[in-house]
Amino acid sequence: MIYFCEIHSDRALEDAIEQDGEPPQMEKLTEDSLSTTCSYCKNRAVYKII
Ligand SMILES: [Zn+2]
Repeated sequence: MIYFCEIHSDRALEDAIEQDGEPPQMEKLTEDSLSTTCSYCKNRAVYKII
């Protein structure tokens, strides 16, 4: 699973497509996962790719 912030959404989508060969399903994080950080920087993650 990839977690990412607003800034890195393009990068996360590209990586996911590279891995799976198809457009990923992404989901906005709920308040329970607000302590999760982006996979590409230290910002708080806002979305995840399932
Ligand atoms: Zn980021």
